[in-house]
Amino acid sequence: MQENNRKKILLVSPRGFCAGVSRAIQIVELVLAKFENENVYVLHEVVHNKHVVEELNRHGAIFVDCLDEIPDGAITVFSAHGVSKEVEQKAVRKNLRVYDATCPIVDKVHRKVRRISDQDEEIIMIGHAKHQEVEGTVGQYTSRVGAMHVINDIDEIKKINIMHPDRLHFVTQTTLSVDEAKNCIGALKQAFPLISGPATNDICYATQNRQQAVKEVAKIADVVLVVGSKNSSNSNRLSEVARQTGCVSYLIDDYTDLTPEMTAGKNIIAITSGASAPEYLIEEIVKCLNKNADYDVENIGVSNEKQNFKLPSGL
Ligand code: SF4
Repeated sequence: MQENNRKKILLVSPRGFCAGVSRAIQIVELVLAKFENENVYVLHEVVHNKHVVEELNRHGAIFVDCLDEIPDGAITVFSAHGVSKEVEQKAVRKNLRVYDATCPIVDKVHRKVRRISDQDEEIIMIGHAKHQEVEGTVGQYTSRVGAMHVINDIDEIKKINIMHPDRLHFVTQTTLSVDEAKNCIGALKQAFPLISGPATNDICYATQNRQQAVKEVAKIADVVLVVGSKNSSNSNRLSEVARQTGCVSYLIDDYTDLTPEMTAGKNIIAITSGASAPEYLIEEIVKCLNKNADYDVENIGVSNEKQNFKLPSGL
């Protein structure tokens, strides 16, 4: 085989944990260490990755889907996706001792929504209505006079009933497809010329950087494997971005999801991972692929991410 025909695995940078995910995992670990003789409850998956959740569960974290499952007064961690005002208030009524792992970037959107809500103005949120982040963000809106609407895509713009187009704002989920959000915001501005919002969107740095890197590698790869769980929004978007660039792409949780069809006849396999996927999963996938073929492993792209978030007080 000639040198330039050698099979390659391209490890894409940046990939994997973002600052918000690292912080959320660290919060659960520190809370477990601090209260080693008490039950520690985590409301929802702290980040959307089954391996992270299983690992923390092995260390003692008890994951629950609603506050009713948590005894009054217990230690509770809110997930990186954030919670609604209603959940915050219920936690106070139950005297829960809360450690909030909401990503500070999500929290910034929460503050914006609360400010607009206090002015009784309307908001359109671009996002996936059933995603926990969107539920938490919409749950920050408490005005009884205004309204907050969620749209998933451009087609839904015509379905919303706006009362005051001159007092209208938009926000976005932090893990959307950058290109789709851009199109949707463009359509919103056409439909409601007086709408106000962020200069571009509220999509976080990690989502943007990972999508940009995937877009580039998808131009040269034969297949893009995205490591992440099925319920991880940013991981799903990475796989979509690769496909939209014209490359075959699969979202896999780990090496056990690999099938021969995914890589058959593919000389260049790019591997990236969503913001909540641990790096060891990538190492296992590379090992597994190299069992059946002889790939050169190369790094592609650079990561200049220096974002770092402070931990909550008391930890
Ligand atoms: S993906 Fe973005 S918004 Fe979500 S936790 Fe990471 S930095 Fe925060």
